[in-house]
Amino acid sequence: MKLYNTLSKQIEEFVPHEPGKVKMYTCGPTVYHFAHIGNIRTYIMEDVLEKFLRFSGYDVTRVMNVTDVGHLSSDGDTGEDKMVAGAKREHKTVMQIAKFYEKAFFDDCAMVNIKYPDVVQPATGCIDEFIALVSALIDKGYAYVSGGNVYFDTSKTKDYYALSGHSTDELMVGVRDDVDEDANKRNKADFVLWFTKSKFEDQELKWESPWGLGYPGWHIECSGISLKYLGEYLDIHCGGVDNIFPHHTNEIAQSEAFLGHKWCSYWFHVQHLNDETGKMSKSKGAILTVSVLKEKGYDPLVYRYFCLQSHYRKPLTFSYEQLDNAKAAYEKLVKRVSKLTGEGDVDIAKVQQYKQKFIEKVGMDINTSSGLTILYDALKDDMSDATKLAVISEFEKVLSLGLIEAAKSLSDAQPPVAGDDDKWILDLIAERAEAKKNKNYARADEIRAELLSKGITLTDTKDGTTFSRG
Ligand code: AMP
Ligand code: ZN
Repeated sequence: MKLYNTLSKQIEEFVPHEPGKVKMYTCGPTVYHFAHIGNIRTYIMEDVLEKFLRFSGYDVTRVMNVTDVGHLSSDGDTGEDKMVAGAKREHKTVMQIAKFYEKAFFDDCAMVNIKYPDVVQPATGCIDEFIALVSALIDKGYAYVSGGNVYFDTSKTKDYYALSGHSTDELMVGVRDDVDEDANKRNKADFVLWFTKSKFEDQELKWESPWGLGYPGWHIECSGISLKYLGEYLDIHCGGVDNIFPHHTNEIAQSEAFLGHKWCSYWFHVQHLNDETGKMSKSKGAILTVSVLKEKGYDPLVYRYFCLQSHYRKPLTFSYEQLDNAKAAYEKLVKRVSKLTGEGDVDIAKVQQYKQKFIEKVGMDINTSSGLTILYDALKDDMSDATKLAVISEFEKVLSLGLIEAAKSLSDAQPPVAGDDDKWILDLIAERAEAKKNKNYARADEIRAELLSKGITLTDTKDGTTFSRG
């Protein structure tokens, strides 16, 4: 498989640290509000990546954190904790809103067939690990205490800007011009590992630490959780492009300072979903969620289809017009699948051939639209319906569009139409009519009973006999 690596800014051949195994870490949601469909775009594409790796034969372990403390509303370590602000907004406790929005997030994920990660870890469950990590960074000379907080000293790292491609000068002239100066920092790019002091004194959740009562910074959470569950060598770290700087940049700085060697090999970033007014964000007006789309009558899997039509490294603009186009295409696809009768033998060689092609094409930097094209090719191909269904079932392990299930509900909902596969029923109905004409009522009743035993009910009308299933 080839994957674009934000670190090298190139498409590279994917080679995991340990053959056959992939350790994958995903930045999870900050659970102060619903996840909008932009967030969900990122998780859908990460889900495809994970499933594609499994499909290609890797043994994948995927870990996701849940940010329920320490993510401030400004990158400069001076804003209010988003969780505290969310709790105030709803007159609830931080833990109440954390639990509520975590559930809402995974419910929405389930609706678009995102697999639940192998490990989901809320940050508040790993405070001891964060404290140990911060202590080690102080001992190694990478962190310092100032004004009550513990900061990471970015001047001690060699390649702080390797991931983001920023420079210190750029940083000075406005990459972060929303950011207030924090006078405790030795260098402008330094960031907080542990807070005991902030201008917002009403932080609800605080823990004892060697530096006083306080709480962890957001970046240390992801390093701590990843190191805890996935060890010293991480293969793939994922997130949306806004995570590149400062979040992932800081994760690399602290993890590598702690480990003393390179930490993560591949950085996978999904471009944003925008609406017509710009980037979608949780703090901007009403939040458009998967559940809202469902309430408006869209099958959530139509949204997944909409996402898979585009490459993850291209920004995507959402509009209802585009979603309607995706809906029409999705429904047409389901209809085509529903027409497949399952008849004929499965041509195993053909299924393998398609599988190979799919791995080759989608494996070119997770090219999901190519994956869809191959699926359409298979539908058009001159092979048995059973083979087509087998190919679709294989592709669905990655695409997860619910095609087979949707097709089945569609055919179940259809009134029975006599087709070739119903010929045997029609033959029996004709035989029964003939028997009745010959006053052979015993045979006529026998035929009715035989069909009934197979779930087929006959109804005699003045125009002849009809049948229904179920
Ligand atoms: P958050 O809950 O804000 O921490 O974000 C959860 C995930 O969604 C992160 O990986 C973000 O990078 C990603 N994300 C945020 N905004 C967007 C967007 N408009 N489009 C796609 N992904 C996004
Ligand atoms: Zn993270």
